[in-house]
Amino acid sequence: MKKYVILPLILAFLLTGCSQPETTASSVTQSHTPVQSADTSKEAEQYSADIFAMDTYMNLKVWSTDDGECIQQATERIQELENLFSVTNPESDISRINAGNGKPVTVSDDTVKLLQKAIQIGNDSNGALDVSVYPVLKAWGFTTDSMQVPDDTTISELLQYVDYTQIQLDGNQVTIPENMMIDMGALAKGYTSNEVIRIFRESGATSAIISLGGNVQALGQKQDGSLWKVGVVNPFIPEENMCVLEIENKAVITSGNYERFFTDDEGNVYWHIIDKNDGFPADNGLVSVTIIGEDGLNCDALSTALFVEGTENAISHWKKSNDFEMILVTDDSRIIISDGIQDTFTNKSSMPVEVIKHE
Ligand code: ADP
Ligand code: MG
Repeated sequence: MKKYVILPLILAFLLTGCSQPETTASSVTQSHTPVQSADTSKEAEQYSADIFAMDTYMNLKVWSTDDGECIQQATERIQELENLFSVTNPESDISRINAGNGKPVTVSDDTVKLLQKAIQIGNDSNGALDVSVYPVLKAWGFTTDSMQVPDDTTISELLQYVDYTQIQLDGNQVTIPENMMIDMGALAKGYTSNEVIRIFRESGATSAIISLGGNVQALGQKQDGSLWKVGVVNPFIPEENMCVLEIENKAVITSGNYERFFTDDEGNVYWHIIDKNDGFPADNGLVSVTIIGEDGLNCDALSTALFVEGTENAISHWKKSNDFEMILVTDDSRIIISDGIQDTFTNKSSMPVEVIKHE
């Protein structure tokens, strides 16, 4: 039976977050270790699973009294959601929407909820999050591993069809215009981590931590009653942690320019988050955005949105909000944090930290 030390494991997953193996097949390994529950005489057992799904490595860890049933259910749920949201599986809801040719397509409740959030955060970010940017992302090769700079004509032709406001939702029927294609890569993992945590909570578990390719979400506190410690990668030195956060019942979700990128012959670096204003990788002053909040889906959508919005707009977006905290890292090596996490944030880098407050 394997014993795990939690923090190094989480950090390891953060550090390897978003590396991109090609296969989409899942493999699951499970282990469990008995531990004495802090508040009852009943023995909670630690169950963990390592999964490869949604093009990323996932680690689930939960303390439960149900013989690991909840981790099995969570694993199946991840598979189910991958089958609905994958843009490469022709039978997924998203692929069927993309193949709809301007006609309505009937999709699952999960897909409807994901699309509603994509549209809401699209609106809240003035279109910085736009799930219909997919054809542009494809032209850059970020969906395969043959990345390249597309020519200007290709980009401007593809940008004509980018406009998430034309996605029509009517109950479970979704219609997008011909020539539009969507992909939910910016928020699908956040939806999934919410679902895994919900399954754990409903099973009676009170302590769990999961990492879906570096997207961390926690249920409750650690089994010993202390807070979870989550490292956030230094975007300039991805092997190192920039800071550590102490959390409970929260998601910590990062979008960074170091996660999936390539360098051209002249040394220019291009990354996988696209600004539809020019069809190029978003370069608006930020190199990483971490969102902290209770709702993993909201955090994931916002991490991508604020990255595209850039420093000033991200700060005003936060000032208008009340459901998340953030850590921005600027391209001139400054850390900007919102004041709600000030007391739980430990800087491990040499970058200066500026705290912003609601007016
Ligand atoms: P990751 O998936 O690497 O953790 P994100 O949550 O930031 O990081 O999502 C990035 C993904 O979002 C891209 O791989 C792409 O599928 C999609 N994407 C890129 N740019 C945008 C954008 N402006 N709006 C919506 N989705 C985007
Ligand atoms: Mg995101």
